[in-house]
Amino acid sequence: MDCIFCKITKGEIPCDKIYEDENCFAFLDITPINPGHTLLIPKQHYENLYELPDEILIKLAPIIKKLAIAIKKGVDAEGINIGMNNERPAGQLVFHAHFHIMPRFSNDSHIHWRGKPYPKDESAQTAEKIKGFL
Ligand code: AMP
Ligand code: ZN
Repeated sequence: MDCIFCKITKGEIPCDKIYEDENCFAFLDITPINPGHTLLIPKQHYENLYELPDEILIKLAPIIKKLAIAIKKGVDAEGINIGMNNERPAGQLVFHAHFHIMPRFSNDSHIHWRGKPYPKDESAQTAEKIKGFL
């Protein structure tokens, strides 16, 4: 399969590796929002969160936390954003599931996404629609 992140885990494409274990691999994003911006990926190829088996997700969660703390200390960050883009409309460009762990600074000029309030009653209706699929 022609997947850039699979190639990175196999050492076929170079990267600045941060962490590796039997399930996952973490490396610096090549175009960071700030220095230290790291990507954590499962070693096995899954396209996005929906496809990622729970057994793997459970293994990745504590690594996200471990990396967040190490990145914060390593680059002296004032905060950390965790992100995951799933599917093209959500900004996914590489279709091998990955978590972004992004160091933040109070003066880094990045703009947080802006919320917009629900029209009347739409909040409760939306909650019902989602609960129907749980
Ligand atoms: P996404 O939009 O969530 O799919 O993000 C893909 C991320 O992968 C982007 O932030 C890219 O900068 C990053 N990326 C793409 N190619 C490489 C690479 N060869 N090494 C490190 N990061 C990469
Ligand atoms: Zn892959």
